[in-house]
Amino acid sequence: MTDLEQLAELIFPDVKETVEDLEKRYPPRNLEEGAIVARFAPSPTGFLHTGSLFATLIAWRFPNQTNGVFFTRLEDTDTKREIEGSGEELLKQLEAFGITPNEGYMGSYELGNYGPYKQSNREMIYRIVIKEFVKRNLAYPCFCSSEELSKMRNFQEENKLNPGYYGEFAKCSKLSPKEAIAKIKNNEPYVIRFRSHGNYQNKIKITDLIRGNLELAQNDQHIVILKSDGLPTYHFAHLVDDHFMRTTHVTRGEEWLPSLPIHYELFDAIGWKKPNYAHLPVIMKLDNGSRRKLSKRKDPEASVSFFLENGYPVEGILEYLVTIANSNFEEWRLQNMNENIFDFKLSFDKMTLDGALFDLAKVKNICK
Ligand code: GLU
Repeated sequence: MTDLEQLAELIFPDVKETVEDLEKRYPPRNLEEGAIVARFAPSPTGFLHTGSLFATLIAWRFPNQTNGVFFTRLEDTDTKREIEGSGEELLKQLEAFGITPNEGYMGSYELGNYGPYKQSNREMIYRIVIKEFVKRNLAYPCFCSSEELSKMRNFQEENKLNPGYYGEFAKCSKLSPKEAIAKIKNNEPYVIRFRSHGNYQNKIKITDLIRGNLELAQNDQHIVILKSDGLPTYHFAHLVDDHFMRTTHVTRGEEWLPSLPIHYELFDAIGWKKPNYAHLPVIMKLDNGSRRKLSKRKDPEASVSFFLENGYPVEGILEYLVTIANSNFEEWRLQNMNENIFDFKLSFDKMTLDGALFDLAKVKNICK
């Protein structure tokens, strides 16, 4: 056994399966050419935000238009923020809008062959992949204490350096496998970090289905991929889940765009094909002439339950959301007054770019 293999065995003695086994268990989906597989991946941290309904409507329509698959996945690895029962509640609210998943997390049960669809039940799958990362020197244990990390952050701040664990600051990336083994045997606590080879000075070309070709700085952060509680971070779960659930299109809020270089590097490191990405506009509101995000604290209409409880017809809300999603919808509607809204084909290239404006007066108008 090589030193790296010994290190991987020491960290994951219980992991017997390999990435190849997972490839067989979750084979590519047998779908027709052009079929889209997309997902809604909420964290169970509360109510359904109007912005999430908007994003889900889009994630659901594309598979629907292409004989693909729309599935749900519960992203519950942030156990501190979880609100009991909110996963089920989200699904009920989506159902009220006629948005039903073909597979995935359904609240009290699961449907489909690509599960489990609840991240907290996927611990073993993540461990299998991280073991492979360690064996291939793509990841390593980091023993830095929180005091050391905060010292590092202070130093970076004082010297106006980029914050984070990278380059010379990535101290534990310099440990040999033998040194890491000795520390683990000595019971020193650790997390697992990704070994980045990126350079922040370099740009990478990124394609977003809505935003087109972009150039973003390469990732250089040795991000934590496995936390000390044994659960992965969002970035790593995204890699593993969207690969093995065979997602073709990741549609998610634009707040995730800055993380895309990390995701590109993770997919490239292990050599998996990247999904297509579409970063959706945030829902904004005009407030005294300036735009701001629709806020759950200030705006009742930020919560989907506001519409359901106040008798807004769901057809009206859907109609409005498609209006702000695609710039050519209103014209189509004028020519097709009596058609079902879903005879309209949504497209990524007609998507609003810089923050879709949510206008309650117009919602009311449409609903009337
Ligand atoms: N759980 C993430 C969120 O709620 C999902 C983001 C994604 O769709 O990848 O923001």
